[in-house]
Amino acid sequence: MAVTEWAIYIETRRPDGSRERCEIGAIRRDLSAPVPDDLGLRLAEAKDLLQQLQLRMIDGQIDQSAALDRRCCHCDLTRPLHDRRQRVIQTLFGMVPVRQPRLRTCPCRRPEADSSGSGGRSRRVSMLLKGRATPELVGIQTELGARLSFREAARVTDLFLQVASAPIT
Ligand SMILES: [Zn+2]
Repeated sequence: MAVTEWAIYIETRRPDGSRERCEIGAIRRDLSAPVPDDLGLRLAEAKDLLQQLQLRMIDGQIDQSAALDRRCCHCDLTRPLHDRRQRVIQTLFGMVPVRQPRLRTCPCRRPEADSSGSGGRSRRVSMLLKGRATPELVGIQTELGARLSFREAARVTDLFLQVASAPIT
């Protein structure tokens, strides 16, 4: 056996200078007895990597956006978190579960300090989570739907992407 492993990492670099690195997957090949299919990345591996990247990227975007809205622009306090609502967003790279935060009013009670949308939702997060699917996914489904039957369009997207898969965990 001569197994080589390629570990794939993502590194988050935040505006405050902090960094976080995590492994999102690894690809292994036994090079002692290779077959043609061993060359390069396989579609299933690429799908898995894209799903993991999507999950971590969206998770980070929600957290960072909510953190910006929690900071009161008048008294600089961090507004309390009321709760988080579970949602699922359809993306080109899989269905992603998200926890949408709802914020409490700042203790300073200045009305202009409340940057929440309806129901105390973070405005920035609400902007990101408009609708049940990302605009890019909707655009591709619309484009394919104009050329193919619904069934065929679903088959094509499922072949190359993870759109129809169960939520990523
Ligand atoms: Zn305040």
